[in-house]
Amino acid sequence: MNADALIMAAHFAHTRWRLAFDDRQKLEDWQQARLQRFLRETLPRASAFRHAGYERLSDLPMMDKASMMAAFDAYNTRGILLDEALPIAMQAERSRDFEPTLGQGSRALTVGLSSGTSGNRGVFLVSKAERLRIAFFLRANSNLYTTLNSRRIDFAFHDLLEGIEPALPRLNANRPDVLVGPPSLLRALATEAAAGRLHIQPAHIISVAEVLEDDDRGAIQASFGQAPHQLYQATEGLLGYTCEHGCVHLNESFVHIEPDWLDEARTRFQPIVTDFTRQTQLIVRYRLNDVLRVCDAPCPCGRAERAIAAIEGRSDEVLWLPALADGRATPVFPDFLRRAMLFAGTTVREYRIVQAGMRLDIALQIPGDRPQAIQRVSHELAGLWQALGLQAPALNFNDWQAPAAGVKRRRVERRQAPPGLACTF
Ligand SMILES: [Zn+2]
Repeated sequence: MNADALIMAAHFAHTRWRLAFDDRQKLEDWQQARLQRFLRETLPRASAFRHAGYERLSDLPMMDKASMMAAFDAYNTRGILLDEALPIAMQAERSRDFEPTLGQGSRALTVGLSSGTSGNRGVFLVSKAERLRIAFFLRANSNLYTTLNSRRIDFAFHDLLEGIEPALPRLNANRPDVLVGPPSLLRALATEAAAGRLHIQPAHIISVAEVLEDDDRGAIQASFGQAPHQLYQATEGLLGYTCEHGCVHLNESFVHIEPDWLDEARTRFQPIVTDFTRQTQLIVRYRLNDVLRVCDAPCPCGRAERAIAAIEGRSDEVLWLPALADGRATPVFPDFLRRAMLFAGTTVREYRIVQAGMRLDIALQIPGDRPQAIQRVSHELAGLWQALGLQAPALNFNDWQAPAAGVKRRRVERRQAPPGLACTF
């Protein structure tokens, strides 16, 4: 193990295990103390907040990716312009070399592109000190380590763009202790391991960047004998992690998260994030598009950090349909669709559902009897609309195609809501 890896392990031990609050009040006191210092010392260093003298978080305006990108230099403490940062980020993305390139020495910044869909691209700045602090989660001493440590957020498999094939011989040679990647990639590696082409026994498997679904979790565990851990990370920060019981807890020892509830029963919310550990690019009352579903019961591990049952995806992964009774816009969460597809049976290997108004385009990968599988999917969805009291959309079935290498897998997408429907998020 090299020195950096040891430092990371120490950070990990200190931050994640010593800071395991079992008392909610203590956690909130800790957050408040950190927040106050952040508001007093860090916030005024960004011009967007310089003259306001904010004393309470709730006094601050909300921000999101669009507002941050529109006033990029005002939201970072170094006054760096988007025009300076964007070409460097583009170049880093193109060359897949994420070494710090803006500024020099201890003031050098890593510049990265966020993985948002095109047209919604973000640029992110991270100083060297901040990178180290975040890297603690990754106790890797393999060649993955350099890549993982080279960029704060996108813990991408180093050759995600090249696909699986070229990675196999290198993985077999290097035998990584820690495997980090999006679940679609981990699943593909699990398939290779099951087929006897991959011979690795990682001690930790960490799923990032996409929603980890139960069927992927099962396949990965079956192949590697390890349940994958999940890091809930967005470009905006590291927002959650799985505990020893496999439950995702919000990373509230480091990030303040206000829930913006989406339903009256308070089962789902969108997070409004304030990262009080940031020093360079400020994330303050920043609304994320993600939809999180809370756990019904407290986690047996006893951590005070809020437990979430699932990260259901982005708000554009929520479909909207009119209610039968009064035509009111009603959300159909991706989890409902996932379950319906699960009940439709194992003949559906992959699927993708895209809403275009009152039509759903459903792409299916079916090795066996296609008409029968389509009938079962139709039946399950009809049952879902009925259970939710919704007007049934038209279903249009077609063939599933694998996303290009490096492209995020999204099984559900709302491209266009039904015309005239007032969706609330
Ligand atoms: Zn737990």
